[in-house]
Amino acid sequence: MSRLQQNYQTVLNEIARAEQNAGCETGAVKLIAVSKTFPEADIREIYQAGQRDFGENYIQEWHTKAEALTDLPDIVWHIIGDVQSNKTKFVAERAHWLHTVGRLKTAERISAQRPSEMPPLQVCIEVNIAGEAAKHGVAPEEAVALAREVAKLPKIKVRGLMCVAKAGSRETELRAQFGRMRQLLTDLNAEGIAADVLSMGMSADMETAVACGATHVRIGSAIFGRRG
Ligand SMILES: *Cc1c(COP(=O)(O)O)cnc(C)c1O
Repeated sequence: MSRLQQNYQTVLNEIARAEQNAGCETGAVKLIAVSKTFPEADIREIYQAGQRDFGENYIQEWHTKAEALTDLPDIVWHIIGDVQSNKTKFVAERAHWLHTVGRLKTAERISAQRPSEMPPLQVCIEVNIAGEAAKHGVAPEEAVALAREVAKLPKIKVRGLMCVAKAGSRETELRAQFGRMRQLLTDLNAEGIAADVLSMGMSADMETAVACGATHVRIGSAIFGRRG
């Protein structure tokens, strides 16, 4: 097994253990392999090992890779970075998921650009859970209102909420942030929006995120290695 394949197996085992500790079924948590900055060959290798869901941050970079990987028909692309308004078209035409909806305007553009024969784009509302000035996403108090508006768009399906925890948070702080996300999902459901996804947890905080109810974890460096 290559180093990459070993890392991948280790991450799968860690997720399985986190699921067990959290009392959820094995396989309940979906792994998104975050391949940003890593070459197409690495994506192929993990794909061959069985991975189907991949996350990318930078639209230009993803575009190049997606075009080179069209021979992998069942690959599932998750966009997890901010999408500038001049980059929405490729997302609308080629992505399966967008985890970073923080503005109604972006969602409106994408809904309008989504080809009619494609299913609605599955999206998460990005929540700036720790209120950091440098981070994208809506304030927690505004998440439900934004989700309600986005849910009205014809070619968008609101699946849930996404966050990036504040870097350097201690365990108790992580639990507070992820716990608030879980509460917001409950609030969304109470509004009649049948959302079921909590996209939270990265290489450093995956276990805590799963303990707090993450359904999708986004793991990059633990699989692909350190980014240059
Ligand atoms: C890069 C990135 C990840 C993966 O982070 P790692 O620490 O490498 O696991 C997850 N989510 C988002 C939004 C990212 O930008």
